Amino acid sequence: MDTGSQKMNKTHQQPDFVRPCPGISPIPAFSDNYIWLISNGRQAVVVDPGQAEPVMQVLKDQQLSLSAILLTHHHQDHVGGVAELVAQTGAKVWGPAGEILPVCDTTLIEGDTFKDAALQLNLSVLDIPGHTAGHIAFFGTFGTTPVLFCGDTLFAAGCGRVFEGTPAQMAASLAKLAALPVDSRVYCAHEYTLSNMRWACAVEPGNTALQHWHEHASEQRRLNQPTLPSSIELELACNPFLRARQPSVVQAATDWAQRELTTPVEVFAALREWKNNFR
Ligand code: ZN
Ligand code: FE
Repeated sequence: MDTGSQKMNKTHQQPDFVRPCPGISPIPAFSDNYIWLISNGRQAVVVDPGQAEPVMQVLKDQQLSLSAILLTHHHQDHVGGVAELVAQTGAKVWGPAGEILPVCDTTLIEGDTFKDAALQLNLSVLDIPGHTAGHIAFFGTFGTTPVLFCGDTLFAAGCGRVFEGTPAQMAASLAKLAALPVDSRVYCAHEYTLSNMRWACAVEPGNTALQHWHEHASEQRRLNQPTLPSSIELELACNPFLRARQPSVVQAATDWAQRELTTPVEVFAALREWKNNFR
């Protein structure tokens, strides 16, 4: 029934699953947040610490000094631990210029950079509004590995809710991320993968790359492992929000909305609406 999307799959071969990158590890927080820790065994940077305690515990266990805190957006589950971490470690805070944050030493806009030579971390900032008005992402390299820290904008097989922006803004932000190198490792801030995939399978029941990844991710969760990082390649093959131009996705969104959808933004908005209502 879905030969359209099959044909559009680049080479008929499955994208590779992504192995964890040594030096980048998730610190679980709340029920489904990940605080990403980037470390060289002595020094560390964290992204979006919604809680301080789990970070302090890891710093203590691994005897790391925290040099910087990177923030993608202002939501409490991403910034809640910042003040205490700063008080305890003296780490400097880098965050979006367009948002109100509890602490921020360096405000960032698109094109700004965060570099740490000791960590071999070279990141530049992308403005990706939609989930929040001033949401940013960090993209660059850790050593030689391309890495993306995208907060609550792009999730594995899903995307963040559009709270402060418009569907057009969110679609443009996702398109910006979709254009990054396909081998970029994608570090999102929540473990939402399986619930996103249940919905993605409803959108594209004939997507074999998605089915294959779903099986793999289910096994990871069964073993209590994170399903992240993902990759831009996997997202392009499986994430309906990045596939709003695929005939199979347009058709599914049209059927769900029960009206004609004439632009990719309308398709995106219908998909977001569908996911919001999917149980
Ligand atoms: Zn958020
Ligand atoms: Fe969040």
